Amino acid sequence: MTRVDAKGTVEQAAERLRACRHVVALTGAGLSAESGIPTYRGSGGIWTKWGEPTIDGWELFNSDPGRWWEEAIDRQTLMSDFAQAIDRAEPNPGHLAMAELERMGRLHHVITQNIDDLHRRAGSRAVTEIHGNRHLVRCMSCGRRDRQDAIFLERLPPLCQECGGILKNDTVMFGEPIPADVLDECHRQANLADAFLVVGTSAVVYPAAEFPAMAKRRGAALLELNPEPTPLSRLADVVVRAPAGESLPRLAALLGTA
Ligand SMILES: [Zn+2]
Repeated sequence: MTRVDAKGTVEQAAERLRACRHVVALTGAGLSAESGIPTYRGSGGIWTKWGEPTIDGWELFNSDPGRWWEEAIDRQTLMSDFAQAIDRAEPNPGHLAMAELERMGRLHHVITQNIDDLHRRAGSRAVTEIHGNRHLVRCMSCGRRDRQDAIFLERLPPLCQECGGILKNDTVMFGEPIPADVLDECHRQANLADAFLVVGTSAVVYPAAEFPAMAKRRGAALLELNPEPTPLSRLADVVVRAPAGESLPRLAALLGTA
């Protein structure tokens, strides 16, 4: 059963969403943790265990993209715990419920901080991956994305088939700006939203965290589905303190019955 919180229940969240015309969700590591993907911080977190990634990743890439690719290909042969956990992970009931809500016309866009591709694998179509997608590469010049397994690696760095620009993995590195097309889409969604769902994220990483607050300032309803309190909790109209794998399927069931 879904736990009841002083501030709200799934029933109240469903009631709030029923009349909304453009619902946007922001999702984070908490959602994928329910698929067995370790979070970054906290006990058992991948950074807690192995140390944070170098903060100069972007600088290293820029100084010598060819060398960065050589090392990346070496690293793949010694796949990290994190990469293996992602490869084993399957979408959980929370991801599946979000795809279902999209098909029902109750959820219009997902902005995710996760790079694991689980929203798409669950069937969501309208997805913006603010930190990139680990299966994709991105052209540094024209922004075109391709699947990583579809590019040629005979020459490093690999080059864009479209414009000849240098390809980089799509995952956003420390120090690397969020791609402009991604930021534009997030702003567009925050401006369209009349309801914003925040799911499984501590909402402390910028710029992702600012979109729900931006929508709220414009008068959108803010709903938080998260087992733990976050800095957004005090702004939220409804807070459901339960794992997304419990609250989202219940939400989809409630909204599915007219
Ligand atoms: Zn290009």
